[in-house]
Parts: sequence; structure tokens; C-alpha cells
Amino acid sequence: AKKKSSIKGLDGAVEAPDTKNLRVKLVLLGDSGVGKSCIVLRFVRGQFDAASKVTIGASFLSQTVALQDGTTVKFEIWDTAGQERYASLAPLYYRGASAATVVYDITSAESFQKARFWVKELQKHASAGIVIALVGNKSDLEDKREVPFEEAQAFAEQNQMALFIETSAKTADNINELFTNIAKKLPVKPAAPAA
Ligand code: GDP
Repeated sequence: AKKKSSIKGLDGAVEAPDTKNLRVKLVLLGDSGVGKSCIVLRFVRGQFDAASKVTIGASFLSQTVALQDGTTVKFEIWDTAGQERYASLAPLYYRGASAATVVYDITSAESFQKARFWVKELQKHASAGIVIALVGNKSDLEDKREVPFEEAQAFAEQNQMALFIETSAKTADNINELFTNIAKKLPVKPAAPAA
């Protein structure tokens, strides 16, 4: 049987690891202009405002998701701050990340081609168990669609990605669902009750 690890606190009490309140570093990947910053601003602030993009910059924004089983997941969301223009991102960007979203724009076949590159980058630099979501953003622009839903879905399956979803940061469609679904796919879960 697996032995439960425990840590003795100073007062002698046994402290169980906190599996109910998770903190998760999530990194955004994808070409410039696909809507990464807008997705974060929509999720964290409930706004669609390209002008507020400059406020993100060097650091990260955080937002907590509460799941029905009582788990809370606090996402620390790292935006590229434009670094994706320089082909590669610093290894520091990936360090400690347990979730990633690879974003493309459904109206740009080129941005979808680049998603393949970003998935390879993740496989090279990120830790093995990372939960990866493929995100087709700008779903409100259906009339300009260049990337078929089925093609992206097949790509996500071939690459064993945890999730594929189409979103619109503009209309807020599927934005909360994106993060909630990632939260549900995280490997760390509260211990199941003994059978
Ligand atoms: P980033 O470079 O990937 O961070 O992209 P931004 O978040 O700066 O967005 C790039 C452009 O796409 C901006 O002009 C946004 O207004 C626009 N945009 C972002 N998300 C959406 C969306 O869901 N629908 C539409 N129609 N435009 C969007």
C-alpha cells in the first residue's frame, strides 16, 4: 500500500498537503495578434479592451476558478509580452508551468500552422506532465474562418493535447469554460475517498 507522506509542524501537528487549493502557473503561447492578451483580460477582468493590453507586460495576472468538488484553482497566467516575435521564449517562461494554452486565430491559417511550432516548443521546454489546451480564438468571426473546427480537433488529438476549444474574447464565448476545463484536467486532485 502507498504510504501517505506527512510533515510534522512545529507544534507537532501533522500537516496534510493542500490539495483543495491549487496554485497553477499557466503560460500562453501563440502568434502575435491571435488574441492572447484579450483572452486573459476577458477572463480576469471581464473586459474586452485592446487598449488595456499594455498593463500586462512583464508579470502575470491571476484568477481563481472554483470547481464543483470544492477544489479551487488559482491560475497565475503568464503572457508573452510580445516575446513570441523573437522565435523562442526564455526557458524561465516555461519553468514551473503545469498548464499551457496554444492559441491561434480561426481566421488565420498561418496562425494555426504556427501552433504546430508552439506545441513542439512545449514538448522541448516544458515539464512532461503539462496540461496543454489548443485554443481557436475569434470564433465570432465565422464568416472569415480559415481553420476548420475538425482539422484543429484532429491536430489536438494527434498531439495528445488535453483540450481543444474555440473561444471569443470579444463576446466572452467559452472563455470561462476554457479555464474551468483546464482546471478539471490538472493531475493533482483531492484524494478520492477509500472504496
Ligand atoms: P496577442 O498579441 O495574441 O496578445 O493579441 P491581442 O490580445 O493583442 O489581440 C490582437 C487583436 O485581435 C486585437 O485587435 C483584438 O482586439 C483582436 N481580438 C482579440 N480577440 C478577439 C476575438 O475573440 N474576436 C475578435 N473579433 N477580435 C479579437
